Amino acid sequence: MTHHTVPAYAALSPQAPLERITVPRREPGEHDILIEIKYAGICHSDIHTVRGEWGAGGDYPIVPGHEIAGVVSAVGAGVTRHTVGDRVGVGCFVDSCRTCESCRAGLEQYCTGELGMVGTYAATGRDGRTTHGGYSTHIVVDENYVLRIPDGIPLDAAAPLLCAGITVYSPLAHWQAGPGKKVAVVGLGGLGHMGVKIAHAMGAEVTVLSQSLRKKDDGLRLGADHYYATSDPATFTALAGTFDLIVNTVSADIDLDSYLSLLKTDGTLVQLGAPEKPLPIAPFALITRRRSFAGSMIGGIPETQKMLDFCGEHGLGADIEVIRADQINEAYERVLASDVRYRFVIDAATI
Ligand SMILES: [Zn+2]
Ligand SMILES: [Zn+2]
Repeated sequence: MTHHTVPAYAALSPQAPLERITVPRREPGEHDILIEIKYAGICHSDIHTVRGEWGAGGDYPIVPGHEIAGVVSAVGAGVTRHTVGDRVGVGCFVDSCRTCESCRAGLEQYCTGELGMVGTYAATGRDGRTTHGGYSTHIVVDENYVLRIPDGIPLDAAAPLLCAGITVYSPLAHWQAGPGKKVAVVGLGGLGHMGVKIAHAMGAEVTVLSQSLRKKDDGLRLGADHYYATSDPATFTALAGTFDLIVNTVSADIDLDSYLSLLKTDGTLVQLGAPEKPLPIAPFALITRRRSFAGSMIGGIPETQKMLDFCGEHGLGADIEVIRADQINEAYERVLASDVRYRFVIDAATI
């Protein structure tokens, strides 16, 4: 297979800061699209992956980045879904088996086929090569895994929608956040701030449950109706039995029983992040009010397109801080210190 090389920022080992290298990209095949990347968001999982914290221990160099926004610069002969000049996005995966029950239902993120969901970086593709992500100037992706970005969303603010946006949109849509529903978003970070915007745009009554009231003004500006500090035990008394849906965007350990107690009868607590250790749960908290504890992971291609169209209609993008590529390492430290409102986005022109 022929290929060419493009500049990228990569980690060469778990301990090393990211640095500029070149990586191979395949020549666009019949159904491939060559995308000129304009912006790439920095997701917390990029940091976990390059530092080997998720046990992948994969092949270095790792080029992270699965919140990609750019413009189509070339298409293969058989491409029908996109044309040169289109504004497009790529999220957390670039391929899947395409034949299993999940793939046929448009739930490619839950692919059970032999190939499985092929991550946008640090995964092994159909061609046996390691995938390289969006901290780069160009990427080649099969047209079926490329999304349209509506004109109403600037590309830099659109990039984080491809992971953070869909991660919160999918459970909000699945558990039917909307008018008459009380939704709580736990944590006001990259995911949480999009959760507030999207749940509000869906018409739900939105409450932020954050450790402190430090970001209260932001939360209300983003669309929350209420804002409570979870460090205050009075919050759990005041809000007992309140919510139809709680979306937990925080990966740290939480006291599940306390959060479950905030659900109404038939309410659902959805876990989006994964703490390192198992979380204890007292079944009594579920049984007494037919509550559910659930999980959700990103979203499939059709739903990701739906989310982008929804955000386009409602004028929603992420709140971002655009950085140069040579600021990535510094940005990582700031993400780990929760010192970002609310997503770093790399300007690919600086790679
Ligand atoms: Zn992500
Ligand atoms: Zn599949």
